[in-house]
Amino acid sequence: MSEDLLKKITAHCKEYGFVFPTTEIYDGPGALYDYGPYGCELKNNIRQYWWESIVHAHENIVGVDTAILMHPTTWKASGHVDAFNDPLIDNKDSKKRYRADALIEEHLARLDEKIEKEVEKARKRFGEQFNEELFRSTNPRVAELSRRRQALHQRLTEALRNNDLETLRAIITEEEIVCPVSGTKNWTEVRQFNLMFSTQLGSHSDDTLTLYLRPETAQGIFVNFLNVQKSARLKVPFGIAQVGKAFRNEIVARQFIFRMREFEQMEMQFFVRPGTEDHWYEFWKSERMRWHEKLNLGPGLHRFRDHDKLAHYARAACDIEFRFPMGFKELEGIHSRTDYDLRNHQEHSGRKLTYYDPDLNESYIPYVIETSIGLDRMFLAVLTAAYLEEKLPDGSERTVLRFHPALAPVKFAVLPLVPKDGMEVMARKLFEDLRKLAPGQYDEKDSIGRRYRRQDALGTPFAFTVDGQSLVDGTITVRFRDSMEQERIPASQAPRFIEEQVSIRRLVWS
Ligand code: ATP
Repeated sequence: MSEDLLKKITAHCKEYGFVFPTTEIYDGPGALYDYGPYGCELKNNIRQYWWESIVHAHENIVGVDTAILMHPTTWKASGHVDAFNDPLIDNKDSKKRYRADALIEEHLARLDEKIEKEVEKARKRFGEQFNEELFRSTNPRVAELSRRRQALHQRLTEALRNNDLETLRAIITEEEIVCPVSGTKNWTEVRQFNLMFSTQLGSHSDDTLTLYLRPETAQGIFVNFLNVQKSARLKVPFGIAQVGKAFRNEIVARQFIFRMREFEQMEMQFFVRPGTEDHWYEFWKSERMRWHEKLNLGPGLHRFRDHDKLAHYARAACDIEFRFPMGFKELEGIHSRTDYDLRNHQEHSGRKLTYYDPDLNESYIPYVIETSIGLDRMFLAVLTAAYLEEKLPDGSERTVLRFHPALAPVKFAVLPLVPKDGMEVMARKLFEDLRKLAPGQYDEKDSIGRRYRRQDALGTPFAFTVDGQSLVDGTITVRFRDSMEQERIPASQAPRFIEEQVSIRRLVWS
């Protein structure tokens, strides 16, 4: 996979109405996107798959929908005012701004590549007798590169942990890292940059209050923890889930919808008895991986990665990474957040945020396990796995999106082979019946081959075709998007077929 694939996906998304750059007619600001007709259907389906899996499939998890603008002290208490920073550095020649840690990580990736190249060269040279482990530990060049990489990685991790900006700058200088645009080493100092957007509340300048656009949805859950627990009569362990917009003034905002300045999060905070957090952390790690695997996106696309640098609130944290076109990157975070947030809100608000545990007959502040996934990132993961340019046996080519039928924006198409002789009447009637069950399309324009291609490009899993034989015996063909095989079924079976194949609920409970 490559960056080239990302470009193709971006272009496909625009051409077929999935995602457009925002405010394009004004050459809009970067890293902000609008979802088009098929994009918003796909996004809704992913959201629904998450919501039903998390909220409806668990008796002890409920949902909320909280305000984007919250009292500013929320962000003082959560640590975001003081610690939600990225270390940034500018190149004086290109005037481009970078995250210092990202520059160093890219440099580390280049060292990895060099090591792998040496290993591959040797593998070819030695053939069957190649002992990779022995080679890695004894080849002087590989051993030296590995030692250098490891030392550098450790230095980076420590610098990030200690907010040591000078060391970050020193690494960039000593390793002679150059700006990818200007190619020079003419760097500024490293500075901390807070990622929160702020805005003003109030109409007069003298009574304004500075508010922040929330950088995560989690705090809306924490501040409502007791409201929800009491009103929904919940007992620990229980969870509160939320889907909503979050805003971050990202410095390096490239790579399509992978890193946006306005995006949607799907978060769940699971409140547990202190002392049981490790058990629940492992539980949610495997639950969340199962959720991804059920979509069958393909083998080897997901992996866990433990965090090197724990966030200011975390006791343990890992990511579920996905193999995006630009490599393995974070898709979802699972964090053991201790009682950090609730305790701080209690301190800053002066309100008690303890839970009375009737089984223990004692009150405590629960510990929290969080699962947090970006809806837009999940959208990109689904697209990445689905996108395929395929050469067909007859020499032609097609671009197909192989979405899981439950996620596909259009579930079916009904196509009269030719719109005459009553085929269009029968097809139209079938379409009217099926659209009550799921979103579909009726299409009679152009040749049947072109209509199939159009549906392939949207990822429509099933196309029902009404032909001459249909008028005689009431059967139709189902064409399967991925195999392109066709099967004849009675038209009367089409509704059941659709209901069984495209149900999100079935996927959730499978
Ligand atoms: P990253 O390291 O990529 O900046 P993060 O560790 O800051 O991400 P979290 O704060 O853990 O991310 O947010 C939870 C999830 O929200 C991420 O796993 C990701 O899917 C999503 N997310 C975070 N930032 C963005 C963004 N700028 N655009 C799109 N999705 C995002």
